[in-house]
Amino acid sequence: MTEPALKSRHHNRITDLQDEITAWRRDFHEHPEIGFEETRTAGIVAQKLKEFGVDEVVTGIAKTGVVGIIHGEKDGPMIGLRADMDALPMQEHGDVAWKSLNPGKMHACGHDGHTAMLLGAAKILAETRDFAGSVAVIFQPAEEGGGGGGVMVREGLFDRADCQSVWGLHNWPGMPLGQFCALEGPIMAGIDYFDITIKGQGTHAGLPHLGVDTVLAAAHLVTAIQSVPGRNVSPHETATIGVSMFKGSDAYVVMPDEAVIGGSVRYFDAATRDMAEARIRSLAEGIASGFGAEAIIDYRKNYPPTVNHAAETGTAAEVAAALVGEDMVLRESEPCMAGEDFSFMLNERPGNYIWMGTDQPGRNNAMVHYPDYDFNDAAIPVGVGYWLGLVDRLLSAR
Ligand SMILES: [Zn+2]
Ligand SMILES: [Zn+2]
Repeated sequence: MTEPALKSRHHNRITDLQDEITAWRRDFHEHPEIGFEETRTAGIVAQKLKEFGVDEVVTGIAKTGVVGIIHGEKDGPMIGLRADMDALPMQEHGDVAWKSLNPGKMHACGHDGHTAMLLGAAKILAETRDFAGSVAVIFQPAEEGGGGGGVMVREGLFDRADCQSVWGLHNWPGMPLGQFCALEGPIMAGIDYFDITIKGQGTHAGLPHLGVDTVLAAAHLVTAIQSVPGRNVSPHETATIGVSMFKGSDAYVVMPDEAVIGGSVRYFDAATRDMAEARIRSLAEGIASGFGAEAIIDYRKNYPPTVNHAAETGTAAEVAAALVGEDMVLRESEPCMAGEDFSFMLNERPGNYIWMGTDQPGRNNAMVHYPDYDFNDAAIPVGVGYWLGLVDRLLSAR
């Protein structure tokens, strides 16, 4: 399989360490842990950072989060490089030799690779120290739904590591190995969740006139909610609303007292989000009341959109281009409607979240969150080279 040609002054050292970093990655893959339960993973991360001679190692931020601080040989600002450590609650279907040993848990998003690559970069930074400033390597828990990045921020991440800027990287199947995508502005959607309970009057299915049909009202509400992205969101904006849950009675012949629907709202713009919430509330109340029922609405803000800052995105694209060549860096593409909790860090400090391609011909290039996904180890030198390139660029000692 072809491997991308990389231009990095650390190339020889990265090549020396490639097998070791790959072994870490496969060990993490074999022992996946889900959000806020990453005790084994975090323990290995903290132990390795100490072995590397990292100056400060802080554990227990957001339960299992770990931060290492590496000081360069000269003074300068601090930057934060972030990786996520958690796996997903799903069963692995692939048959790799390092397949998950934990039933129902799987590294299906490549966070095993993210953790291993940032550890590799930390090892080289702690060896060389030829930069002006400090690097905080941030290993966060619970990216997949638990909002571990937000919890780290709330628990004082940036008080302990006063980063001038923060940087994230995600492996991205669907893009070739060696390609990067640095999008200015929104790159990943904001996500909210809602549950709506329609309360009415249960009855015998053969005596509908004696009850208030909550399933019928909820069915009208499901249909009406689709008018929000179609009729209320501007054609120039984007929002996706999915009603994915619908619970009524457990019996063919019993009309239930209540019916419950639930789903998600995905968006990039805060005003669109606020409008969607207001419309969903209004439709739920109006439709329920029209059927003689009542709506109880639980609407919850979850992840904010991941919005890349302009100057830092320019820097990220330049660093990637220096590593893999200008023709391998996309600066325009469609943002993704999935969420990402690096957004909480980008809301506090300027920075960039970049996609790194991983596809190779002849390889299983399954998308993240698929049961036969496996992080592509051939991407390890690319990711490590990117992190080191960022430090060289932002904390140049020369
Ligand atoms: Zn994921
Ligand atoms: Zn992920």
